[in-house]
Amino acid sequence: MFGKILIANRGEIALRVQRACRELGIKTVVVHSEADREAKYVKLADESVCIGPAQSALSYLNVPAIISAAEVTDAEAIHPGYGFLSENADFAERVESSGFVFIGPKAETIRLMGDKVSAKNAMKASGVPCVPGSDGALPEDPKEIVKIARQVGYPVIIKAAGGGGGRGMRVVHTEAALVNAVQMTRSEAQTAFGNPTVYMEKFLENPRHVEIQVLADQHGNAIYLGERDCSMQRRHQKVIEEAPAPHIPARLISRIGERCADACRKIGYRGAGTFEFLYENGEFYFIEMNTRVQVEHPVTEAITGVDIVQEQIRVAFGEKLRYRQKDITFRGHAIECRINAENPFTFVPSPGKISFYHPPGGPGIRVDSHIYQGYTVPPHYDSMVAKVIAYGDTREQAIRRMRIALSEMTVEGITTNIPLHQELMHDARFIEGGTSIHYLEKRLAEKSEVKK
Ligand code: ADP
Repeated sequence: MFGKILIANRGEIALRVQRACRELGIKTVVVHSEADREAKYVKLADESVCIGPAQSALSYLNVPAIISAAEVTDAEAIHPGYGFLSENADFAERVESSGFVFIGPKAETIRLMGDKVSAKNAMKASGVPCVPGSDGALPEDPKEIVKIARQVGYPVIIKAAGGGGGRGMRVVHTEAALVNAVQMTRSEAQTAFGNPTVYMEKFLENPRHVEIQVLADQHGNAIYLGERDCSMQRRHQKVIEEAPAPHIPARLISRIGERCADACRKIGYRGAGTFEFLYENGEFYFIEMNTRVQVEHPVTEAITGVDIVQEQIRVAFGEKLRYRQKDITFRGHAIECRINAENPFTFVPSPGKISFYHPPGGPGIRVDSHIYQGYTVPPHYDSMVAKVIAYGDTREQAIRRMRIALSEMTVEGITTNIPLHQELMHDARFIEGGTSIHYLEKRLAEKSEVKK
């Protein structure tokens, strides 16, 4: 096994990776910005290296500084976490050409999946169902574009091949608005992603977000670890995730799961990954693949007993997957609430010093967090400060445990979105399960109407 791994990330995921390393007997190096110097997880690591000032562009995205840190500390591999450089193919390439192992797929796979047009083509070729739409990139000719939209049927959505984070998309309801919308999305895509390529999809009106977790090794083995439902979103950001997805028949999951595992074998995927789908009327439609560990991985760990981060490390080292598909069984239900330092209803970020902290506990509760009493949440990064995961034999039990956990959890000095989660855990539609990706925003809009 590796002797030492460098963790190129911050916050809860830096701590999560450290824990996996420690269990595997691997030493850790954490790189950090000046803003994170005092964080406890930095001190917990075997070694730490300051790689730059608070701004991410100069620290967590500073490739030469990260590579130098790996060199001076004699790390053998680099774990990128999520966000930052985790899906940057050039970074993965630099890591490997500098003689380190990148804990993730090959650079060429990241590149293939990072371009949504090439990703979709690869998925179609591997037998993964996709949203109906244009056959690859849209042509220049307006007449052709109009023709394609007629075939797809309105409403359609124009999406940037290089898009990400919910940006670079535009919904079009009528032919009159089409050509202009394509032009605008193209020029925005050029500015934001340096790539003007756009494509068209049928706009699904009321889908759910259901994703499949996969694990693959470098020896051609791949398995799926079931699904997660992440439909509770605001501005394309997930707020609550759960596994399994309520009310979806197990045979549909195993069918789509097999397809994903098969696609991994066909494209030579290695490591952990997620196939994201929109799910509507009993059908799955691929939208994109995340070639890294995800924030919501703990709900899958809870129902399968597989430590996804440890498996990432093992397969990166070259080990064969320790599980076959038949070894994977699903037990119980898990829900994750993302606790953010923000106003629960206006969503204004609330960084600052935590004057009092009491995390929840008890049966079935897991808290993944780097915060503590006296910790200052820096204003420079994502506002997520903790993930509370509740596990139960049934979904009802997981919800009950989550309600208790949220009522116990105390974070003072900053504002958090705990009150929003508390409301949602009592929301009749959430309790029923199976809400669409628009549910949370509609609910929030209605609530602000009532207030007015
Ligand atoms: P990103 O990489 O920016 O997250 P995705 O392709 O994953 O982009 O899409 C983000 C979100 O946009 C989806 O979760 C969904 O809410 C919406 N979306 C994308 N494609 C469609 C579609 N064809 N129909 C309806 N909604 C869509």
